[in-house]
Amino acid sequence: MDSKKHRWGSIQEKIKAACKRANRDVSEVNVLAVTKYIDEVATREVLDLGINHIGESRIQDAVKKWEQIQRDATWHFIGHLQRNKVKEVIARFHYLHALDRFTLAQEINRRTQEAAVEPLKCFIQVNVSGEESKYGITPQELEEFAREVANLSHIEIIGLMTMAPIVPDAEEVRPLFRELRRLKEHLQNLNQPRLNVSHLSMGMSQDYGVAIEEGATWIRLGTELVGPGRRGS
Ligand SMILES: *Cc1c(COP(=O)(O)O)cnc(C)c1O
Repeated sequence: MDSKKHRWGSIQEKIKAACKRANRDVSEVNVLAVTKYIDEVATREVLDLGINHIGESRIQDAVKKWEQIQRDATWHFIGHLQRNKVKEVIARFHYLHALDRFTLAQEINRRTQEAAVEPLKCFIQVNVSGEESKYGITPQELEEFAREVANLSHIEIIGLMTMAPIVPDAEEVRPLFRELRRLKEHLQNLNQPRLNVSHLSMGMSQDYGVAIEEGATWIRLGTELVGPGRRGS
């Protein structure tokens, strides 16, 4: 617990410093604690720090935790989502950071309507780095994809998300974050009523300072907050 408290203290200092450099207000930057590496006891400790947004990437692990924690947290699904898991996700989660294909959007739309639940708040995942190993819509396909998803009545797009490659120096990924922000502004300028793309989910342990400077409104912190994990994804 103390080590988490200590980590959280220094993260808050870093966030403050990055906001200052970018002339932003700290209240614009939301922290999502990525708890996929840790069990429910350690996840509770994270909530006790006063962070109530938690991110999970595997439904099997998340369901077990959800049973014990549920209402005490706001749940974000951050992993690649299989269509056959959509039902379980919409029953528990409030946000999805990885909307990466139209068939998934259709399934979310259909299941949300059926279950009569609040729409998931979705970030479209964009593959700005162009790495083949990464999921996401390409920048070229983004506008058409966003327009199509906006036609689905039971899904709510709130922003764009990207995952930067792991690099030795976070400066190397700055252009990717800048590009995501440019894409967000482009979509905003379309003035589509059902397409309010106001958030940017970008920045992880290695690069959140740079991401904040480039306009992140959600940073996703795992390792830096909870310590090195037991697995990579
Ligand atoms: C695991 C994960 C993170 C957290 O990564 P860290 O480097 O441990 O901070 C953030 N976003 C996504 C999508 C992840 O899968």
